Amino acid sequence: MSGGQVMSDTQNTLRAFHDEIKDCQKCALATGRTQVVFGHGNPEADIMFVGEAPGYYEDKEGRPFVGAAGKLLDQLLQEIGLQRSEVFIANVLKCRPPQNRDPLPEEVEACKPYLLRQIELIKPRVLCTLGNFATQLLLGKKVGITKVRGQSFQMQDYVVFPMLHPAAALHRETFQASVREDFQNLRHFLDQGLPPAASQEQMRLL
Ligand code: URA
Repeated sequence: MSGGQVMSDTQNTLRAFHDEIKDCQKCALATGRTQVVFGHGNPEADIMFVGEAPGYYEDKEGRPFVGAAGKLLDQLLQEIGLQRSEVFIANVLKCRPPQNRDPLPEEVEACKPYLLRQIELIKPRVLCTLGNFATQLLLGKKVGITKVRGQSFQMQDYVVFPMLHPAAALHRETFQASVREDFQNLRHFLDQGLPPAASQEQMRLL
């Protein structure tokens, strides 16, 4: 943060949490990473996007979605009138898997408390899960993204909105229209109004 702006409590807490986990050694990915890619964006965001894991450029720069998939994500966000500065973006894994292979179950398990803590601190109302790994982790069940994309799932403290991962459009041209369709559906979903935040009273009753 620059320009003498005051940092919010959430921003301070997120920074402290980033500091706490930046030397994480909980799984073998620690040996191959350049750095932990914590996540980035608005700490007060109502909308949070969760991807899979950092790739080559994310690992070098320390920010999520800065490579080709990130450029596409920026464009898709812009098309539905959202900017990065108003959302928070994180990943299931905070460290890059070698050769960008899929996350292993033990890596997902080791990293899971970090994502859950970020969600707890940011308190988004809508969690957009990009691809299978984020969707399965946050829905807590092994469902295929193509079955659940475009639907919304009310969880205790937030709504999960599963979407195809933007990288799908980069790998297979046939997915381009579907990826774009998911973002249009997100726009329609948001236009209906954000789901109400669970009140303190509701939280006590749950
Ligand atoms: N970059 C990320 O940060 N996450 C992904 O899932 C893909 C690219």
